[in-house]
Amino acid sequence: MMSQLQRRNGLSKEDSDYLRQLQKGFEGEVSFDKKLEGLNDDYLILHDLQLEVNRQTFQIDTLVLSETGIVVYEVKNYQGEYIFAEKEFRSYPYNSVILNPQIQLSRAITLLKILMQTLKIESELSAKVVFVNPTFVLYNCPPDSDVLMPQQIGHHISQMNKQSRPVKSAQKKLAKKFLSLHKTDERFMKLPAYSFKELNKQVTCLECQSILTKRSRRKSTCLQCGFHELNAHIIKYEIESVRLLFPELKLTTSLIYDWCGAYFSDDSIERVLKKYFVQIGSNKGRYYIKDTPLED
Ligand SMILES: [Zn+2]
Repeated sequence: MMSQLQRRNGLSKEDSDYLRQLQKGFEGEVSFDKKLEGLNDDYLILHDLQLEVNRQTFQIDTLVLSETGIVVYEVKNYQGEYIFAEKEFRSYPYNSVILNPQIQLSRAITLLKILMQTLKIESELSAKVVFVNPTFVLYNCPPDSDVLMPQQIGHHISQMNKQSRPVKSAQKKLAKKFLSLHKTDERFMKLPAYSFKELNKQVTCLECQSILTKRSRRKSTCLQCGFHELNAHIIKYEIESVRLLFPELKLTTSLIYDWCGAYFSDDSIERVLKKYFVQIGSNKGRYYIKDTPLED
């Protein structure tokens, strides 16, 4: 949703920076997920849990569950050199203080312990801050700390595989319990306020985000990067972005026509709507609904 807003100038400078941070963090998590694929089947992996206990919410990047216990990972995609000094993380050599991810992690662990007590779950619990970016260097990091450097991840995973024991139904039950407690409500989504009226009405290149101006009957070509795509695909994409940002709006040809800044004709929009959606009404007030979930 944030990147859709950005495509249409709906983000302030601050929100754009925040989005970049989120994207970088997400890339880090994806890269760690890939590495965790090296774990054997004795481990159950849960991603991006949003949990709540005593009205306090907390987020867990990755939780790995097994017969030997629970490991919680806080994944960071920091680039460059840092120094660990007096429990603080500082960029090196500039010496500016950055948020210490260990503090974030220790809050999550405390809340997770409380949650587990409430649920009467008993399990060994350990935690690691894992730095996934290969350019990351941390000076002065004590060897017994809970930090996992990028070059240690492979070894860490093979050690876990050596120590593993077959997963039992109790762990599977516990994993299901965590998933059932996962919160998806809006309190976790820090979206800026936006409205249909204020967002830019235009179609941008799916590759480089330049405004599209060159359209033939079947496809559009980006004059900046040369990317080309079928008009029908772009229309479908824009319909989905409206549905994502404005689920309360009635899907009509004229709504999509406005959203695309009159770039596509009514007819081509209507064809796509008819193909993927169910038409309600046949006259002037007709609109479209989807009877299946968002993704095809
Ligand atoms: Zn382009």
